[in-house]
Amino acid sequence: MYSKRFEKEAFKATVKDNVKTLYRKKIDEATPQQIFQAVSYAVKDIIIDDWLATQAEYRKKDAKTVYYMSMEFLMGRALGNNLINMTAYKEVKEALEEMNIDLNVIEDEEPDAALGNGGLGRLAACFLDSLATLNYPAYGCGIRYRYGMFKQKIENGYQVETPDDWLKEGNPFELRREEYAKEIRFGGSIRFEKDPVTGKDKFIQENYESVMAIPYDMPIVGYGNHVVNTLRIWDAQAITNFSLESFDRGDYHKAVEQENLAKMIVDVLYPNDNHYAGKELRLKQQYFFISASLQAMIEKYKKDHDDIKKLYEKVTIQMNDTHPTVAVPELMRLLIDQEGLSWEDAWDVTTKTCAYTNHTIMSEALEKWPIDLFSKLLPRIYQIVQEIDRRFVEQVRKQYPGNEEKVRKMAILRDNQVRMAHMAIIAGFSVNGVAQLHTEILKHQELKDFYEMMPEKFNNKTNGITQRRFLLHGNPLLADWITGLIGDGWITDLSKIANLKPYVNDEKFRKEFMQIKYQNKVRLAKYIKEHNGIDVDPRSIFDVQVKRLHEYKRQLLNILHIMYLYNQIKEHPEMSFYPRTFIFGAKAAAGYLRAKETIKLINSVADVVNNDRSINGKIKIVFIEDYRVSNAELLFAAADVSEQISTASKEASGTGNMKFMLNGAPTLGTMDGANVEIVEEVGKENAFIFGLSSEEVINYENNGGYNPIDIYFNDWELKRVVDQLMDGTYSNGNHEMYKNLYNSLLNTQSTSRADMYFILKDFRSYAEAQKRVEEAYRDEQRWSRMAMLNTACSGKFTSDRTIEEYVEDIWKLEKVYVPSGQPE
Ligand SMILES: *Cc1c(COP(=O)(O)O)cnc(C)c1O
Repeated sequence: MYSKRFEKEAFKATVKDNVKTLYRKKIDEATPQQIFQAVSYAVKDIIIDDWLATQAEYRKKDAKTVYYMSMEFLMGRALGNNLINMTAYKEVKEALEEMNIDLNVIEDEEPDAALGNGGLGRLAACFLDSLATLNYPAYGCGIRYRYGMFKQKIENGYQVETPDDWLKEGNPFELRREEYAKEIRFGGSIRFEKDPVTGKDKFIQENYESVMAIPYDMPIVGYGNHVVNTLRIWDAQAITNFSLESFDRGDYHKAVEQENLAKMIVDVLYPNDNHYAGKELRLKQQYFFISASLQAMIEKYKKDHDDIKKLYEKVTIQMNDTHPTVAVPELMRLLIDQEGLSWEDAWDVTTKTCAYTNHTIMSEALEKWPIDLFSKLLPRIYQIVQEIDRRFVEQVRKQYPGNEEKVRKMAILRDNQVRMAHMAIIAGFSVNGVAQLHTEILKHQELKDFYEMMPEKFNNKTNGITQRRFLLHGNPLLADWITGLIGDGWITDLSKIANLKPYVNDEKFRKEFMQIKYQNKVRLAKYIKEHNGIDVDPRSIFDVQVKRLHEYKRQLLNILHIMYLYNQIKEHPEMSFYPRTFIFGAKAAAGYLRAKETIKLINSVADVVNNDRSINGKIKIVFIEDYRVSNAELLFAAADVSEQISTASKEASGTGNMKFMLNGAPTLGTMDGANVEIVEEVGKENAFIFGLSSEEVINYENNGGYNPIDIYFNDWELKRVVDQLMDGTYSNGNHEMYKNLYNSLLNTQSTSRADMYFILKDFRSYAEAQKRVEEAYRDEQRWSRMAMLNTACSGKFTSDRTIEEYVEDIWKLEKVYVPSGQPE
């Protein structure tokens, strides 16, 4: 695509030039980081023309645009992905080789843009890739956190968090857009006035604090289509309009305060996944980026349109979870107070513009702001929320006369809290879950009352992932092999990967497939040797669980099972056992005690098992430090087994499961989230399913939980494993080290229910499924067929499919084709 303009010699010259102007160096004197910067600027140079052309074409076509609002964008690295989507990766690799530069080494110089926690943030990143590739006008809107997701170090087996100073060396792909800065106001009070001319109500915010929001734009390159969309992330800056005179009048302190407020707002990403902390600063972050994005959106609309009442014809706002829900009252405020619409007209526009994606049913993740905090920080917004709530409650009472229970359950304002999910559902024209099972649970359990009142809003959009990053870039050997067999159509139409199916029946191709898996395992083994100093055998089964550390994801079940296997091998050294490498990667929220204890447990078991020569290396355990998008790409490519073992009903979708499947790793999992649909696609004989169903789990929960004590006393092997948490086996004799984990299972101290995540309940079923994995792996013919079928059946799980569904059912966008941008 870019080959016409991607001219090798010119590119090499630009790289050399950049090194010279940026660093006053010759290319052979430059550090790898300097070369990364120079190469990235050269790449941005090429992108810019298409970026301009795309935006001009969108304006010319007056195309409807989706604004994807998200507190998180887990982008990972940009350079390799941009080259892939420019279809210039191989040419650039060659060009650099001619200069004795290894592109892979240069790529490793780029810090991950880790502006997200886990699945939710990565979904937003995959969606941007798909939107651009499918020719849809889109903005991602978020925050330019000064520090993204913390870097994880493992010290003495414990997680230690260090700041992620990702902007330290400068971000070559971003563009600062000072001219689009917006003022954001917090606090103060609202004075009400009648406009003497129009007679309309006017609301004036006084004694507020304010900051400037400055946008930074990052290009989102579509695959081979010249489309370049924009990720717009906002930085905060103090308003510096005070004069020297006012210094003398004592405004200096005020100026410094504003400076501090600005620094604080965008300082750091809250490192919680599926958990809500209720901090004032977090609400400030939400309002900050939402108000800035909406002001910019309206300003852009008004450049070419004069009827603000038709805003919804040209824009749609998708709210990624409840985090951006303050968009609802903020859009109302802008339409009423700034644009002069009546309440009814503003409500009409708002409810035709906003749509909401629900990401979880777990109560600890649902945002509920204390009213006093909310109203103090956002006084005008709070007035509007009160009015939305008042009108909604009126409607409920009309529809369900005398049913105050309904009002109590459904209102936005209740028990001194602002319930953000309720506001999102009430104002959104669409409410979607992220996998079939999750959407059904929403409709019939969690959001039952809302579903009964407004069934037409509810719909499912099963998540997806981009094959450009997680196969084409992350697994080049497999990508090339697939293209050799079926052509490269799968890159932009993953349903075509089904054309691999006929080859599954031919042993020759299955062998080639497994040979590639082996090479990827060698690549990962090298990474493990470098980072962990552990030798792992690429012929062993690579059994991988990588995802955020959370009790519902049940890393504890995995490690307890490894402890159980180790006991067995020790007791029956003659027992047949296929060598396994258990690989973990997970960050724990800094304040999440049980999660951190689980990391320590995994590392302690690893220490004991990896160094026990009597088991002949049958089990190795590896904890990958600082799990993130860049090393994730290596892990998916090398995995034999995909551990997706969440307590059924708790994982809304999962997307890691899809990345493993795409790369040919069968799922070992529960019938939860998108695992259900994975099994539907690949067949249950090509997965290893175990454990309670979501119905069974929900049933137990509605009846006060279950009692793990019977299991504990009747299964002595399992009891022994649980007791080993307390007897010092994995803690050098310290009996306290894992007491939180022990208590969480048996509830000897804690006030919450025992074994809330059904670990003991599912243990035997899991152990038995693991036996089936071993059996299947021993049969090379069978395993290679299963693995390859997983890849061949993964077509549904591309985020391209997900985006087409959003477009068709919710966003109603038109594709815009962009002519190649001409350099001027
Ligand atoms: C895909 C991905 C996730 C989400 O994984 P799940 O297993 O779905 O929780 C989290 N982190 C990173 C870096 C990812 O790439």
